[in-house]
Amino acid sequence: MEKIIYVDNNATTKVAPEVFQAMRPFLTDNYGNPSSMHNFGGSIVKYIEDARKKVAGLIGAADSSEIIFTSCGTESDNTAINSTLRSYPDKKHIITTKVEHPAVLNLCKYLETVGYRITYLDVGPDGLLDINELKNAVDHDTVLISIMHANNETGVIFPVAEIAEIARVRDITFHTDAVQTVGKIPIKMTELPVDFLSLSGHKLHGPKGVGALYVRKGTRFSPFMVGGHQENGRRAGTENVASIVGLGVAAELAKNNIKEEITKVKKLRDKLENYILENVSNTKVNGDSKKRLPNTSNIGFEFVEGEAILLKLDEKNIAASSGSACTSGSLTSSHVLKSMGIPVTFIQGSVRFSLSRYNADKEIDYINKNIPAIIGKLREISPFGKK
Ligand code: PLP
Repeated sequence: MEKIIYVDNNATTKVAPEVFQAMRPFLTDNYGNPSSMHNFGGSIVKYIEDARKKVAGLIGAADSSEIIFTSCGTESDNTAINSTLRSYPDKKHIITTKVEHPAVLNLCKYLETVGYRITYLDVGPDGLLDINELKNAVDHDTVLISIMHANNETGVIFPVAEIAEIARVRDITFHTDAVQTVGKIPIKMTELPVDFLSLSGHKLHGPKGVGALYVRKGTRFSPFMVGGHQENGRRAGTENVASIVGLGVAAELAKNNIKEEITKVKKLRDKLENYILENVSNTKVNGDSKKRLPNTSNIGFEFVEGEAILLKLDEKNIAASSGSACTSGSLTSSHVLKSMGIPVTFIQGSVRFSLSRYNADKEIDYINKNIPAIIGKLREISPFGKK
């Protein structure tokens, strides 16, 4: 296979070689069940606990017992939300936003059908929330605020510290979906009064099929997966040992390199973005350009079909995306960009470039060299009529 220029890291990331090496023994010789009485299985527990410490270290949690391993970010989101609703059965109002990942949004839509009242907060044209709108939405019946840390499509970062404080003083549980931020920007749970935080292994150079949920000590918890006693009775199911170990190493790598990575990735992202904005007419960045993940650039190319751009990029071995992996799979236009009120001529032609530590300067040169011609040709045949 020819070398791929991979700029779709908000969809998933390459497994770091160190992660793969660390996982290997648990997929070959070290296959014991950590719940077993014998030492062959039981001795595996220490590797899980080591991984738990590393994940806790990455997000600055006070204690590793605040980390529960799950199967993915989606399960972490579902666990946090369902746990809270079960813990406070008398309250029926949830506040979230219109731009959440489907892992939260579709669960909220389901909850509406079983008697919950959901407030979906709007975002402005820059993708940011109006904090007063959040304050006004709270009422006596509010049981949970679930608001993402950063948006997967635009990279726009929400002020979770401020939101957490609003929730804390009103005694409301606060969950944040931090699947896109953990490993990309520093997070310190000891300074953030968040009750639940979701993260996912495959977004930070760990394996797919493993995630974690941070549960602050003292937060009411009711398990989502019920069965065996694993994870201290908080998440049943035999542990995905290799992937948990892999997530631990991914967390350690992210923690040790986060400052250098932010600098490197942001420089590459800005080079890509500035070149496109300067050399291709009728383009704009979707989302606030400052309060944004350092790796993400969502660019609207007016009068072109985003899918056509992606196909042309694909022909050049460049893997980008039109939004979230799920959105591009279903070919519907982005609910995030729609909520921001972006004109449809830009939404249709929006492409998300999301970088990682594995991108190189010459890859950005290669993308920049190809983009103007791709857009130029597509505009010549554009159904939107602009040449
Ligand atoms: N939340 C956000 C913000 C995401 O971007 C994603 C994945 O794209 C998820 C949740 C779901 O994570 P997972 O794929 O691990 O279920």
